Amino acid sequence: MLIRPNQTVVILGAGLMGRMLGLQLLRAGHPVTLHDAAGPDADGAAARVAAAMLAPLAESAITEPCVVRMGQYALERWPELLGQLRHPVFFQRAGTLIVWHRQDRAEATRFEGLLRSTQMAVPGLPQLLPLNATELAQQEPALAQRFHQGLLLPGEGQLDNRGLLQALLIELQEEGAKLHWNSPQTPAAFEWDEDCFVIDCRGMGARLQWPGLRAVRGEVVRLHAPEVSLARPTRLIHPRYPIYIAPKPDHVFVVGATEIESDDNSPASVRSTLELLSAAYTVHPGFAEARILELNTQCRPTLPDNLPRLRRCGPRSVQINGLYRHGFMISPAITDVAMAWLTRGDTQLAEQLGVALDNHVESPNPQTETA
Ligand SMILES: Cc1cc2nc3c(=O)[nH]c(=O)nc-3n(C[C@H](O)[C@H](O)[C@H](O)COP(=O)(O)OP(=O)(O)OC[C@H]3O[C@@H](n4cnc5c(N)ncnc54)[C@H](O)[C@@H]3O)c2cc1C
Repeated sequence: MLIRPNQTVVILGAGLMGRMLGLQLLRAGHPVTLHDAAGPDADGAAARVAAAMLAPLAESAITEPCVVRMGQYALERWPELLGQLRHPVFFQRAGTLIVWHRQDRAEATRFEGLLRSTQMAVPGLPQLLPLNATELAQQEPALAQRFHQGLLLPGEGQLDNRGLLQALLIELQEEGAKLHWNSPQTPAAFEWDEDCFVIDCRGMGARLQWPGLRAVRGEVVRLHAPEVSLARPTRLIHPRYPIYIAPKPDHVFVVGATEIESDDNSPASVRSTLELLSAAYTVHPGFAEARILELNTQCRPTLPDNLPRLRRCGPRSVQINGLYRHGFMISPAITDVAMAWLTRGDTQLAEQLGVALDNHVESPNPQTETA
């Protein structure tokens, strides 16, 4: 084990991973201190703008089987973890619906082929359900007449990202975590303190200490659309504008997201906004009268292989990063792997799920450590 029983843990970054792991460490009896460069509303976190879809099979079209396994594991863990919070968080598992316009059938066939090969590679995934027009209308009446076929991925889920971040914050406060806002830090700042163990969960904020970590920009629109009712996240297959529409409580919808290889965090472009909104309008005309609540941009912290990783960065420090576009989908798996490794020295779950752990201590780069 790396963290001694009852040892104080300092977590850098109170975004998604920092809050999730901080709470589990507190419950395991560790005094926990969190530092975040931004404020308690997670304004600096990718987690604040995310759609928070939990869709391992849908994502398998663009990710590795190990991430699908982590996502499958996490779908079962979320209800337990949310059940431990005193504030309820919106969570549902009504599946993911995939639709396409007639002219894009070839793209849909290719997508279905990718999902079917994932089902062969990862046993235990739910069956993919092809829907005809009648079945589609039964599953999602709002889309009847507009689409004539679709695919349902049963059991996939979503949750309310901001509700979760807030509920975790309340829990951390109630359990006695020490919280420091507007407090940007580096692991090197704590090297002198031999009593504490440092966990770096700074997402993009760790870039100077993790060469290879890159940003993948995403833009999302938050809409209030009282005329639209969708029971589940819906993805539109499209050769140029593939989008998802994730329904949140009270007719709020998150429409996203662009994927741009860039660390530019400036506001959304006109082109991206037009594409996202036009595509949403082709899914449901009720979006024409929707109100634009927010237009957000954030960067997804991504490693060269697009996979998450835990690594030692000093004798008493580790880094957890690279959650890319799957933080909500996999964070319960990463949290359990981290707890097993750090507090019990147990790497069995990491091996089972295929989570990369680097146990050798990286030699610090003096030029970047203090940057
Ligand atoms: C547009 C978009 C859509 C997404 N949709 C989904 C989705 O549908 N499903 C899904 O599973 N995932 C989704 N994600 C991905 C998910 O949001 C991320 O994978 C996840 O937030 C990463 O968690 P993290 O804790 O590593 O980083 P973050 O959530 O970014 O948190 C990092 C924290 O570190 C803090 N910090 C930075 N520098 C410092 C410093 N020097 N000192 C102290 N603190 C610092 C930041 O302020 C921040 O609070 C989406 C992301 C984006 C951008």
